[in-house]
Amino acid sequence: MICVDLHDLISRLPDGAVLTDPDLLAGYRQDWARDPSAGTPLAVVRATGTDDVAATLRWAHEHQVAVVPRGAGSGLSGGATAVDGGIVLSTERMRAITVDPVTRTAVVQPGLLNAEVKRTVAEHGLWYPPDPSSFEICSIGGNAATNAGGLCCVKYGVTTDYVLGMEVVLADGTVVRLGGPRLKDSAGLSLTKMFVGSEGTLGVITELTLRLLPAQPPQSTVVATFPTLTAATEAILGITGTLRPAMLEFMDAVAINAVEDEMRMGLDREAAALLVARSDAPGEFARHEAEIMVGICEKAGATEVFHTEDPEEGEAFTAARRFAIPAVEKIGPLLLEDVGVPLPRLADLVNGIAAIGARNDVLVSVIAHAGDGNTHPLIVHDPTDAAMTERAHRAFGEIMDLAIQLGGTITGEHGVGRLKKAWLPDQLGPDVMALTRRIKDALDPHGILNPGAIL
Ligand SMILES: Cc1cc2nc3c(=O)[nH]c(=O)nc-3n(C[C@H](O)[C@H](O)[C@H](O)COP(=O)(O)OP(=O)(O)OC[C@H]3O[C@@H](n4cnc5c(N)ncnc54)[C@H](O)[C@@H]3O)c2cc1C
Repeated sequence: MICVDLHDLISRLPDGAVLTDPDLLAGYRQDWARDPSAGTPLAVVRATGTDDVAATLRWAHEHQVAVVPRGAGSGLSGGATAVDGGIVLSTERMRAITVDPVTRTAVVQPGLLNAEVKRTVAEHGLWYPPDPSSFEICSIGGNAATNAGGLCCVKYGVTTDYVLGMEVVLADGTVVRLGGPRLKDSAGLSLTKMFVGSEGTLGVITELTLRLLPAQPPQSTVVATFPTLTAATEAILGITGTLRPAMLEFMDAVAINAVEDEMRMGLDREAAALLVARSDAPGEFARHEAEIMVGICEKAGATEVFHTEDPEEGEAFTAARRFAIPAVEKIGPLLLEDVGVPLPRLADLVNGIAAIGARNDVLVSVIAHAGDGNTHPLIVHDPTDAAMTERAHRAFGEIMDLAIQLGGTITGEHGVGRLKKAWLPDQLGPDVMALTRRIKDALDPHGILNPGAIL
């Protein structure tokens, strides 16, 4: 533990902003991935605004103390894992939002949850599309820092497609504003995009200007079950090759059964895979697109295909898919993957993952934002069983190796964090790693921002 006098930091911040009670610090050590290597922070700063973030970073820069930015802690890659002797800088109290219906933009502080952003802009008849399954529990700042994806991203794109501008505090406490409520802006380097997905390693995002769309039209929903993984991936390719679904999600047999255990919706427990697909095409076209998707699923060999125009029924199946990670987690602790491949390689990826699970004798459930080629293999293991844990970690690495071999990525939306960084050089290669390091060193010469994440 580094010995640093915290009184100076406390004197620069509002009363109560700095937590040092060990019981309270414990709640800020890990994110959802529960990285066992998490350290114990010196303190947690619960910033109330940009000034608090800037004051904290100026202090950290002077004393060369590590700072781990934290949104809501729902990350799945250990990106918000605390480090020994560092500060956890939480944005949970930065929750302001203003909506401008004329420019169709919202200016948002980072601590607001994704669901709260969606609800607020909906009051103006507007829609913020990116919808991670965790939308009720993740912050918009964390979404920007990880370039979060979600279920509707197959048609509407990911977080970066909606970030028009931001305020960001650099490692030495300098506050800069990038972009703004302009749909087009070619002035200077695309620095806004550089900070999206930077996982707290380049700066702390203190405000976002988000692009909004008109409210989403009503959706038609198709649910199909398949006897094999390959039949399901054929249907996925058939659908994406024919139209642009507003959602195309996948669950394997383990996930179907885990969700059915919890939700009792009558899902087919015998199926090898289930797809939930939606269309939000205008008017009657939604039904028409749904009928095309029904036909494609039947042709691919679906055992059962169900189509509904009822929004509540459609939402129930979407909610079931969103619940898949917590449902599978009931079987046991998870190592969470996020690998993605170009769509034509999806069948090779899901069948390869099944083979890796069998070879290593561990249970691997696969759920996926299938229309994006982005899968979430969930490796179930018992941390008290050393042999099983070793096999689970071996499978974790082999799955990332497979994705890279197939021309894919080790992470489609969760970020590299600490848990996937050993595989990043294999994906990016030495030149891109060196470039990444040069950017990091230029922006954060003392290496105080989220040390150990990504690089
Ligand atoms: C059940 C479940 C389902 C999920 N489904 C999805 C999904 O469908 N799609 C998806 O993309 N993700 C998903 N996630 C992962 C997670 O919710 C996202 O990565 C989310 O964007 C993290 O937001 P957060 O506020 O919890 O960030 P945190 O976990 O607190 O932090 C994540 C990273 O961002 C950095 N960070 C946070 N705030 C800031 C800031 N203001 N400035 C700079 N850096 C910052 C942190 O240092 C860390 O590196 C899921 C998680 C769970 C638990």
